Amino acid sequence: MIVVLKPTAQKNDVERLTKQIEKLGLRTSVVVGTDQTIIGLIGDTTIVDPKTIEVDEAVDHVMRVSEPYKLANRAFHPEDTIVDVAGVKIGGGHLGLIAGPCSVESKEQIIEVAKSVKQSGANILRGGAFKPRTSPYSFQGMGENALDLLLEAKKATGLPICTELMDAEYIPLFNEKVDLVQIGTRNMQNYSLLKKVGREVKKPVMLKRGLASTYEEWIMAAEYIMANGNPNVILCERGIRTFETYTRNTLDLQAIPVLKRITHLPIIIDPSHAGGKWWLVDPMAKASIAAGCDGLMIEVHNDPEKALSDGPQSLRPDKYDSLLKDVKKLADIFGKKYE
Ligand code: PEP
Ligand code: MN
Repeated sequence: MIVVLKPTAQKNDVERLTKQIEKLGLRTSVVVGTDQTIIGLIGDTTIVDPKTIEVDEAVDHVMRVSEPYKLANRAFHPEDTIVDVAGVKIGGGHLGLIAGPCSVESKEQIIEVAKSVKQSGANILRGGAFKPRTSPYSFQGMGENALDLLLEAKKATGLPICTELMDAEYIPLFNEKVDLVQIGTRNMQNYSLLKKVGREVKKPVMLKRGLASTYEEWIMAAEYIMANGNPNVILCERGIRTFETYTRNTLDLQAIPVLKRITHLPIIIDPSHAGGKWWLVDPMAKASIAAGCDGLMIEVHNDPEKALSDGPQSLRPDKYDSLLKDVKKLADIFGKKYE
């Protein structure tokens, strides 16, 4: 349920109403927009008679929200959320251009890739440290050492860093070293991890879509993080499993307009894990910008043939550079900013 206040409503009106609602055992979320203030009610709202709130002189109207997600719901927060990743804005017309290797492999590799993607215009560096591999015999990532190499690459380029958190045990380390905490596809429904991320992660979170998750399941996963205290969530579509086997996954571009309609959270597209082939990255990245996404996450490797993970889907730095030239042209056409 949401309570939309009249434009004339004052701070003391908001305080009076939130007290009245909280007395019923419900939680409130107040969003002050440019045109209106909204009080969102969280909890069992079946006990609330809307008329008892509607009579208040500061209230314009009361609406029931039928979706199970509240904090992530566009109705609770009509304006786009802009997430700030160490000074880089994502959402509300600002593009996050995240690039880097699937895995951090060595100091030379991460610094070389970081410098080249920065030169092309990327504004956040990615690099896997803890890798969720399908096979236990595959390279599992360099772990903690990779976080320090990412920090060296950050020092060399100024780019904030994004890497995946798989285990809650590492949250303190990520709070100290990482700028954007990625929750991967395989953990999208790891609810105990999501709760801890909501409570303990002090940085923005990028939540990837599960391999076979519906929009609602995905937004509910974001709701877990938000309900536990971290409102800075970015969604990332990275392809879903379909009957098609030619491509690694199928990129669901419809996710962009649908999610923009039903949530206020930024949505980023990862065309690398979607198609699984480097030559699919360029066209799908451009299509994603045209469809209105808030950013791209792209795997770039200086020597894809020798990459320890995801070489076939990684762009060489020159290909990333030419893609970003086109992305910037599209950004200008669609009025998007990038810093
Ligand atoms: C990744 O970004 O390296 C990754 C493992 O992604 P996903 O969780 O989408 O498979
Ligand atoms: Mn990868």
